[in-house]
Amino acid sequence: MENTLQFGRFGGQFVPPPVVEALKELEAEFEKAIKDPEFWEEYNYILTEYVGRPSPLYYAENMTKDLGGGKIYLKREDLNHTGAHKINNTIGQILLAKRMGKKKVIAETGAGQHGVASATAAAMFGMQCDVYQGKEDIIRQKLNVFRMELLGATVHPVERGTQTLSDAVDAAIEAWVEDVENSFYLLGSAVGPHPYPTIVKEFQKIIGQEALEQIKEKEGRLPDYCIACVGGGSNAIGLFDAFVPYKEVKLIGVEGAGKGVDTELHAATMTKGTEGVIHGMNTIAIFNEDGTPKPVYSISAGLDYPGIGPEHAYLKDTGRVEYVPATDDEAVDAFKYLSEKEGIIPAIESSHAIAYAMKFAPTLDKDEVIILNLSGRGDKDVEAIKEYMDSKA
Ligand SMILES: *Cc1c(COP(=O)(O)O)cnc(C)c1O
Repeated sequence: MENTLQFGRFGGQFVPPPVVEALKELEAEFEKAIKDPEFWEEYNYILTEYVGRPSPLYYAENMTKDLGGGKIYLKREDLNHTGAHKINNTIGQILLAKRMGKKKVIAETGAGQHGVASATAAAMFGMQCDVYQGKEDIIRQKLNVFRMELLGATVHPVERGTQTLSDAVDAAIEAWVEDVENSFYLLGSAVGPHPYPTIVKEFQKIIGQEALEQIKEKEGRLPDYCIACVGGGSNAIGLFDAFVPYKEVKLIGVEGAGKGVDTELHAATMTKGTEGVIHGMNTIAIFNEDGTPKPVYSISAGLDYPGIGPEHAYLKDTGRVEYVPATDDEAVDAFKYLSEKEGIIPAIESSHAIAYAMKFAPTLDKDEVIILNLSGRGDKDVEAIKEYMDSKA
């Protein structure tokens, strides 16, 4: 077991020896790839021509005026191909898989967003794609299962445990280790054993790099605040990374508080969690008394994860990033609000960040600037939100 930690006391590789071997091979190739200009040339070409980058940094004028405080800019990751930031990472990782001569990618998925992004990248590169998804999630997410199948992927139902994301991660890692010669494990968030959190950040940090350039062009200065929702933490670290060195920029991560942090039904890892090992990393997570990951709850499937990436645990520990909760009700209000005010239907995950901005922006001066990461679009959520609103009516 390799316990060199990457982020203060967080990170590491808490996995069995065969996985350590596979991770070593991956790390070696990753280190080579990021020093190779041809690798970045291909990554940037695909992000421009296929994904549609750079994504705009849109001044949300209606929202800003209505809230009557700080100036709000939306980083429009919702406009990417497949509708969220996840494609940035799947493109980067599939390029690594190609370099390593792999023929097959394996991915886990909860609601199906990362499964769809993986299946998309695999289709584009002519690779086989095996997606592991909890049986419970397969039933709840029929349309995404069909999408993955349309894209040529095979969806494997996982029937152990709670039959959700946590179990899908375990099953995907097992499948990877069984066929490590031919397969590449395409991990969907900034979580898991080293080097995954570092790899995922490397491929998501383009969000913050673009935003930094864009805000300098539009405002001639740095923002005062960057706000992003956090599930595993990939869109948030992607936005934050470029701003971390600038201490005057305050960074805020918003997590899913479900029915409230004082109920049993939430996914507020940072507010309620403790330090421990989950999915191969030492981080902050919500555990059962026996130390196993505790099933958590959020209206948003993308935030419904009991852990968080180890770098976020470190950024919280050092005080560089503040983490705050937003409830289901607040997120649904924000979902409606942005749709009405700006004509943009946000993902329910991103709606948590919007919910916080709606409370926070009015407390700021008019010359203060917020960048809010709109991690995805809400087309996938409209049915569930309608049901939620009907049940409340
Ligand atoms: C998956 C997802 C998230 C949560 O994942 P992170 O790794 O925390 O970014 C947030 N927003 C959208 C739109 C997603 O699809």
